[in-house]
Order: sequence, then C-alpha cells, then structure tokens
Amino acid sequence: MSTAIVGEGRGDVADRATAGFRQRYGTEPAGRWAAPGRVNLIGEHTDYNDGFVLPFALPLRTVVAAAPGPDGRWTVWSELDDEPVEFGAEAADEPGRVDGWAAYVAGVVWALRAAGLDVPGARLAIASDVPVGSGLSSSAAIESAVLAALVDLGGLDLPTERWPRLAQRAENDYVGAPTGIMDQSAVIRGVQGHALFLDCRTEEVEQIPFDLDAAGLAVLVVDSRAPHRHADGEYAARRRSCERAAATLGVAALRDVPTADLDAALARLDDEETRRRVRHVVTEDQRVLDTVALLRAGRVRDIGPLLTASHASMRDDFEITVPEVDTAVEAALTAGAHGARMTGGGFGGCVLALVDVDAADTVARAVADAYAERGFAAPGTLTVQPAGGVTRM
Ligand code: ADP
Ligand code: MG
Repeated sequence: MSTAIVGEGRGDVADRATAGFRQRYGTEPAGRWAAPGRVNLIGEHTDYNDGFVLPFALPLRTVVAAAPGPDGRWTVWSELDDEPVEFGAEAADEPGRVDGWAAYVAGVVWALRAAGLDVPGARLAIASDVPVGSGLSSSAAIESAVLAALVDLGGLDLPTERWPRLAQRAENDYVGAPTGIMDQSAVIRGVQGHALFLDCRTEEVEQIPFDLDAAGLAVLVVDSRAPHRHADGEYAARRRSCERAAATLGVAALRDVPTADLDAALARLDDEETRRRVRHVVTEDQRVLDTVALLRAGRVRDIGPLLTASHASMRDDFEITVPEVDTAVEAALTAGAHGARMTGGGFGGCVLALVDVDAADTVARAVADAYAERGFAAPGTLTVQPAGGVTRM
C-alpha cells in the first residue's frame, strides 16, 4: 500500500502552530499566517532559459503563529526542531550569520530590512504539512508565511507584487540557494482553481483556469522517495549546456529559439548531447504554451498527453529522470492516468499524474505495487486540487 505524504494523526496544522506558540512563549499569538507548497504542472528547466512555467499552489500549508517581540530581536521555533533560534538585527543584516533552517526566517528579515523596511521584532512558531525537501517547496512556504506575518505585524507598506522577489532574495542571497522566481510566485500569488502562467523573462503572470474538480479530475502527487543522486552537479551541468548552446546560436536564452526554427537551430550545434538538451527546452516551452491554450479552452483532460510528452523529453533528451520516477509515471499511465510526468529539477522528487477523481486510489495503488515489485522504498501519495496562495487566517 502507498503511504500518505502528510503524516496522519498529527492534528490540524494551524492548531499545532498555535499550540507551539503558547507552549514556547506562554502567551497567545497575535495572528496566524499560512502559505502553501506548490507543484509545477509543466515547464521544467525552462526557468533559467527565460521561458515559461505553470505551477499551482497545493492544499498543504505551512502556518506561522506570531506576535510582536522586543525591538530588533526575533525568536523562531519550528516543530521540526525542538530548539528555538534567536537572533538580532546584527545577525539578520549579515547573510550567513544565522544558518540551518532558521536562515530561511532570518533571510526574510534581511530582505525586508535591505529593502528599507522597518521590520518589527517578533516571536514566531511554525508548523507545516508541506513535506520538507521533496520538491514541493516547503522553503518558499516558510519564507512566504514569515514574510506575510512580519508585513502584517509591522503594518509595512509592501504591495504583494513585491513579495515574491523579496522571498526569493531571502533564499538566494541569505540562505545561499540559487533558485528562480517560480516557487515564491506560485506560493504567494496562487489562486484556488487556477494555475499560474509565469513568463520567467518578464515575470509577467496570468491566472489560468485549472478547475480539476469541475472536470471530475484530480492531480495525484507521488513523492518518489528516490535518494537525490548528484542533483546539484547535474543541474549545474544542464544549465551550462543550455547557456553555451544559446551563445552558439547567438540568442540571449533558449527561449528565443522559436519552435518553427528548432530543426535549423539543432543543425547548427555539433554535438548530439547538446542538441538533445536544446530540443528539451524548446519543446518544453511549447508544451507549456499548448497546455495554457487547452486550459483556456476548458479542455483540462486533453493536457494529459502534453504531461506525458514532457516526461519523455526529460527522460530521453534532458536525461534528468531516475528509475523510481520512470516507474511511477509508467505505472500511473498503465493504471489509467490521462498523463503523468516528473515535476521539479529531477533526479528524484515528485511525479504528478492527471487522473479521474474516482481513479485516484487505483492509480496510487498501482504505483505502490510497481514500487514494491522493483524493491523501491514505498512512495508517498496525495490527491490534490489547485489551492490559494498565502493568507492571514
Ligand atoms: P523543498 O523546498 O523542496 O521542500 P528545500 O531544500 O528547498 O526543499 O527547502 C527545505 C528546507 O527549508 C529545510 O531543510 C529547512 O531548512 C527549511 N524549512 C522548510 N519548511 C520548514 C519548517 N516548517 N520548519 C523549519 N524549516 C523549514
Ligand atoms: Mg525549495
């Protein structure tokens, strides 16, 4: 049998944040702020090629219970770690001074202060249903929930359009993790029943109707539980390869190669591996655009083949899949999914499958059975609908 991604019997996440706050600080929180995880429906390794992505927010959330604290001091506790972490403005102002998980919190304080905002001292308690390190962006969830709490507590004048960039800076420049703008955009700007079409060059966003429920559909998310093998080095290699190819082709980024010119572009590249890398990126951008067009036309079920084609492209051309995710995709398709693909940077992480609502359990079981047959650790599974972004509760 499959196991749930979210631990059962842990109680409501908002209640856990409140209880943690009371226990830690002996008072009531002034409020609670919640931010979701996210999953990318389609558009993989297109972000750093200035292309398109289409993530949506998940119904799993990270909740921050918070109250004002002494000026220039922040104390933060997370249920992931017994020990609270306390830091002052000096530490927040120097990227790297606060390390470990609390760096995601200090990074937000830093980014807000660096933007010239008067961040209030605060006490925070954090609980989360977003699995950590599975590729569902628990990092953007914690950053965004903390950002919302600090903005509200301080009455800061900061329009939400600016939030994704600040949360991203916290992760890039304070934590030191080089990520694009997708995660924070989805987590902050997500709208229930919609996916977020994001142009990574212009950072323009558009809400695309993605009402799975109305279509009798759901997305099954499978945590592949594959051990991450060489993911960082491989990611850097793919990125370099794309940048070199763009330079050879005389374009700013691979996004500038139109699908119609793909064959001509490939003919100008002299090694086979680079040709495959470029073909993935150019066709993947096109698949995002095609997916958006189908969703705009209300043809939700018809996006299935695009998801499956995206997986094949990641497997054969970009070479970023591993046996666990290939097994999950194949098993899901055999069991009746309309489409399935690995989502995220690769070498593990999650798979998503578009399924009829009433087939979700069957597909989940088929994936678990295929895993058992291959001797893989049991996958986590979760059925989701697109949810809303960060909120004050
Ligand atoms: P992902 O975003 O895919 O879950 P990342 O490696 O980007 O994985 O981010 C995970 C890190 O974010 C954790 O190792 C931890 O440092 C931090 N983090 C996320 N959620 C929490 C939380 N609820 N409490 C404490 N730290 C968290
Ligand atoms: Mg992350």
